[in-house]
Amino acid sequence: MIVAKFGGTSVENARAMENVIGIVTREKARQPLVVVSAIAGATNDLQQCAFRALEGKLDDSVSILNNLLDRHVTIAENVIDNRPSYPQVIQFCRRRIEELRNLCQGIAILGELTNRSLDAITSVGERMSSMILCEGMKQRGIPAELIDARSLMLTDDRYTSATPLFDRIEERSKEVVSPLLKSGKIPVTQGYIGSTVKGITTTLGRGGSDYSAAILGAALDAEEIQIWTDVDGVLTADPRIASKARKLRIISFREASELAYFGAKVLHPSTILPAIGKNIPVVVLNSKRPDSTGTRIVAHPPKSNVPVKSIASKKGITVINIQSTRMLMAHGFLESIFAVFNRYKTSVDLVSTSEVAVSLTIDNPEKIDEIVAELKRFSEVAIYERKAIVCIVGDQMHSTAGIADRIFRALGDINVMMISQGASEINMSLVIEEERVLDAVRRLHAEFFEPVPEVELFDAVGAN
Ligand code: ASP
Ligand code: MG
Repeated sequence: MIVAKFGGTSVENARAMENVIGIVTREKARQPLVVVSAIAGATNDLQQCAFRALEGKLDDSVSILNNLLDRHVTIAENVIDNRPSYPQVIQFCRRRIEELRNLCQGIAILGELTNRSLDAITSVGERMSSMILCEGMKQRGIPAELIDARSLMLTDDRYTSATPLFDRIEERSKEVVSPLLKSGKIPVTQGYIGSTVKGITTTLGRGGSDYSAAILGAALDAEEIQIWTDVDGVLTADPRIASKARKLRIISFREASELAYFGAKVLHPSTILPAIGKNIPVVVLNSKRPDSTGTRIVAHPPKSNVPVKSIASKKGITVINIQSTRMLMAHGFLESIFAVFNRYKTSVDLVSTSEVAVSLTIDNPEKIDEIVAELKRFSEVAIYERKAIVCIVGDQMHSTAGIADRIFRALGDINVMMISQGASEINMSLVIEEERVLDAVRRLHAEFFEPVPEVELFDAVGAN
């Protein structure tokens, strides 16, 4: 079997849903379990509706809910046209919205919004989208069957970021999903939502549908997990910067993780850990272009002789240089430094040390004044703002000689102020001036990908 997860933009309107139905029809023989997100924007809207209620602005909540109902009705109208399905689906959505109205009223009266209520509210997005999609599939002759994820995805009771109970989920999935698949049915369920053992609705946290897909895929030993979204996959660079960027057919999980930090908008790698742990390939695909082959993310891709796979960059970086005021760095120096960042919950991205100094980067300068004040108690501190990180990623980089030479030659007159690469690292990160970042990415892309290396690793962006 496979898991096919469709994100919010893949179900955002009737046309998107038609694409999904086409894809599922095509994959039918592979026994897909369909996992679906709320329609794009719905979870945000539902959160907003709860927050407005808490502020006592019930009218705002109600109008958000009405809009949301309208959007769902419009999609349903266009995806489902037979009786008795259509009126049933509409009634289902109306009832859910009615329940939310009552809930919001309660929140407004009490002036209290618990995480438990918030989960009850946001779960409705997935419950409505899955209902519409499932009925749309049935109408087109797909033997779909809706499974309430809350009967599978058992979690603890940390509402809004619940932890899945893997053993229980595996048990339930084998009891509920496997027999349906065996009988030729196509089960449809919700991402993101779950339930405590006592039956109270929980959610896995924002963006949690990928996580749901990975957990269910791992529980059912899926042969593949497909994450259908609105981008072609992982690219060799941001195509808005490097116009000749290529799509990668396959990358390792570690490579994907490095790239995720740079906002490669594809998926958050930690969410697919359950799948990677079981060696199940995760494929990122574009539901707007169903014939595109996507990017496979696997634990151990076959060795290729392409050392560099992708170049990413991030602006708005602040470099902090910290020099010990003693002659040599005393032991405990690093610990005192990181303790400061920890106290201000500011995460450090790159670190580079010498015998007397430590340079590090942060991308969130919100607490910088407080941090610097504390660091100055035991060191000299210099701050450099408006820097950028350029990151060159590839599994085989550290075992290929001459890469650094190529990188620095390509950069030419672009000044590098900080470098970070570990012994077994799969990336080299460089800090440069923010205004040189486009140049740097273009030059590096030209060096490593233009002309495209002669291997079947890349596809043109926008091609199949
Ligand atoms: N609908 C949820 C969200 O927007 C979960 C997801 O889309 O993955 O956060
Ligand atoms: Mg989403």
